[in-house]
Amino acid sequence: MKVKCQFSILNYQLFFYDVRDFVMDRKIPLNIYKISSPCVGTVLENKKLTQPSSPNDTHHVVVGLEGSSYTYLEGQSAGVLPAGMDEKGKPHAVRLYSIASHRSGEKGYPFSLSLCVKRVVYQNPQTGQEKRGVGSNYTCDLKTGDSVKLTGPVGNRFLLPENFQEHHFIFLATGTGIAPFRGMLAHLFQNHFKNEIWLIFGTPYKTDVLYEEEFGQYRSHPNFHFVTAISREEKNKDGSKVYVQHRILEHQAKLIPLLRETNTLLYICGLKGMEKGIHEAMQVMCPQELYEQVRKRILIEVY
Ligand SMILES: Cc1cc2nc3c(=O)[nH]c(=O)nc-3n(C[C@H](O)[C@H](O)[C@H](O)COP(=O)(O)OP(=O)(O)OC[C@H]3O[C@@H](n4cnc5c(N)ncnc54)[C@H](O)[C@@H]3O)c2cc1C
Repeated sequence: MKVKCQFSILNYQLFFYDVRDFVMDRKIPLNIYKISSPCVGTVLENKKLTQPSSPNDTHHVVVGLEGSSYTYLEGQSAGVLPAGMDEKGKPHAVRLYSIASHRSGEKGYPFSLSLCVKRVVYQNPQTGQEKRGVGSNYTCDLKTGDSVKLTGPVGNRFLLPENFQEHHFIFLATGTGIAPFRGMLAHLFQNHFKNEIWLIFGTPYKTDVLYEEEFGQYRSHPNFHFVTAISREEKNKDGSKVYVQHRILEHQAKLIPLLRETNTLLYICGLKGMEKGIHEAMQVMCPQELYEQVRKRILIEVY
């Protein structure tokens, strides 16, 4: 279906969709809760998303917001204030996590938000000693009933457009970058979205395909295409690892006509640097003129 693009093209930011298209005439909840007066939520659920045999540990944490004024849109992030002090004796800094739920809350918990958090464990480059990231370990270790201090929501760019029914979407994620797309997909399907949606999800191991069952259920919608790229377990014909960009190239016969539609938006979320390979793939498969158009319809949230 060809639908006229409703967005202004007056002032594009390089690589980014014009923020004003999302902000103008639109009520976006922003910074309702600040560090000085955070929202105190209650943990309703904390479950491990990665399979037990995975070398990684990623959790789905549902926080109840009952009694607060916390509201949000799919694609926004929440700040978590980890309990305790840093080495300088100051309260830990806020850590941002993409909200993984739909604006009306996690299924079964009407007034809530959920986070998808990977436990960060790394080696101190000087001593070689194992270190644990403060915010991710704090969040992954939260127990049902615990209180958690939240700030936000933040983010006025990485959102679905208000007239989402008039668009097609290509969502490209790596790791916990899947979080905002979970909320967006829920919003689209709850609103009987009929246009095309692609979700291409890259992760190192099969054990780390987050929310696989849930997304698998959306496969009953003929307009939803869910593709994974398992970099450490799948190989391209030349023996190289399979990343998101290789899946884009593999599906180019369907993706190029979709990219030609001026109402197709691309969203990229996850590991910093992932956008490079995606741009390279698009430059390979699209004529220059199409690539120049498409790059203006990309929204990026990488960290
Ligand atoms: C907009 C936004 C959205 C985000 N959404 C999510 C999300 O949905 N899920 C999610 O899990 N994360 C998300 N993050 C990342 C998250 O905010 C934290 O950065 C991450 O959890 C690590 O924080 P930490 O407190 O555990 O580690 P820290 O305690 O902050 O780490 C301490 C130090 O260790 C270093 N370090 C950290 N990790 C490593 C590493 N792997 N190897 C070597 N050194 C390292 C850092 O340089 C840092 O100085 C998001 C970030 C942004 C900006």
